[in-house]
Order: sequence, then structure tokens, then C-alpha cells
Amino acid sequence: MERIILLCMFSVCVSALQTPVNMNGIGIKASRVIDGTTTLREGDIAVSSGRRAKVCFARSCLWNKSVDGHVYIPYRVSPEYTEVETKLIKKGMENIEKGTCVRFVPLTHQRDYIDIVPQSGCWSYLGSRGGRQTVSLQSPQCLQVGVISHEFMHSLGFVHEQSRFDRDNYVTIMWPNIWRDRLRNFEKFRTESLDLPYDYSSIMHFGKYAYSQDGEPTIIPKNSQKIKLGQSSSLSHLDKLKINKLYNCDTDDN
Ligand SMILES: [Zn+2]
Repeated sequence: MERIILLCMFSVCVSALQTPVNMNGIGIKASRVIDGTTTLREGDIAVSSGRRAKVCFARSCLWNKSVDGHVYIPYRVSPEYTEVETKLIKKGMENIEKGTCVRFVPLTHQRDYIDIVPQSGCWSYLGSRGGRQTVSLQSPQCLQVGVISHEFMHSLGFVHEQSRFDRDNYVTIMWPNIWRDRLRNFEKFRTESLDLPYDYSSIMHFGKYAYSQDGEPTIIPKNSQKIKLGQSSSLSHLDKLKINKLYNCDTDDN
């Protein structure tokens, strides 16, 4: 069975990103199963037995880059969204486009594209899967620009920042404070750091209290307690650099 990664079922993502976290129990227990073949593991990592499932690490799941230097991501937005909601989704895209080589373009004839739909929860596959791939943005819970951008970052191929292989040099995971059944959310991945520094303020970093079972911190920055972890408003400078590095883009053209 191969692994794909689905990230951020609504309550997982939103409450993991924001601090302090309000874990109401309902949210974190919900939506463990996406469908008959795709189930969540480690909170927001899905195991799929589907034929199209593929392991996505490092550069194995990138979107194609155009000869003009841009990485075009074709998208379709469900007509179920209101005009205001559609605008928010586009803002989430602009957030990523600014300062990077990524461009979201409405679907016309392309084979590979993201299909943005209000399913249950906020989640995305990791990187390009090939063909149509869902990004779920439930309304109204997921329709915050930061959350939307976060999901698109997953679609581009990025995992959570604190999943980096070298994260133990930068943060301490407070295992006793984490919900028992959520310990695996804090596993590390064999990720590519792209030779960029660890980014405490990445839009992809969990908050300090993510999955706390007792209100105590679950992630503590090393060396300085004052560093703020994560945020859910916009991409950090390093997030943008990460995109341009992963896709080998010339930043001057953006
Ligand atoms: Zn996420």
C-alpha cells in the first residue's frame, strides 16, 4: 500500500495552525475516513489503496513548469461557493503567486488540475497527483485566506514545517502534552530542506499548542521561548523562497 498525504482536515488544520488551540474533541475525532480507499493517518496523512496513489517526497510530485518559467496550476472552483467565497479562494491563490513563479489558471483543457470543492474539512493531497485532484475547503470554516493558502502549499508539495527531518535541532516536541491518539501527527518526514533555514513563522508550521490535551505547549522552540510558532495569515518570506527553490524558478521574473 502506498502512501499519499492528505493534509488538514478542517479542525486539524485550523486548530493546529492557530494558537491557542481550542480542541473541542468533536473536531479532532471527525473525518478519519475520506472515502472507502482513503483514510487519514497521523491526523492529516492519508493512506490510500487507490491505484493512483503515489509516494510524494521531495521532487517526485511537482507540477510541470512552463517554458516561460511559470508553474501553472489549473483549477476549477465549485459553483457551490458564493461569489464572496470564490473571491477569498482567489485571494488565497494570489497570496501564493505574489513573489513566486506559481500561477493559478482557470481550467480549460489541461489534464492535471485541482478541483476546489466544499467537502467535509480543509484538506489537500500532497503535490501533483496527476489528473483531477481535490482540494477541500469546507464553507465557512476553511474559507480564510491563510487556511486556503496553506492547503495550496500542500498541493504544491510542501508538508508541515515541523515535519522537517532536521526539526529536532530547532524545536522540542512535548510528547506528554499531546493527545494520545494524535502523537503520530508529530512524526518527521524525509523532506528536502532546500538548504533554507528552519522557518518558525511558516504558514506551514503548527502552532505551539497544536493537539494539546491539557492546554500545555506541544511544540517549544529551542533556545528562545519567545519565538512565535506558525501563523495562519500569509506566506512567510521563506515560504515563497521555498516555492521558488523547489520549482527551480528565477525569482527575478516574479
Ligand atoms: Zn496542513
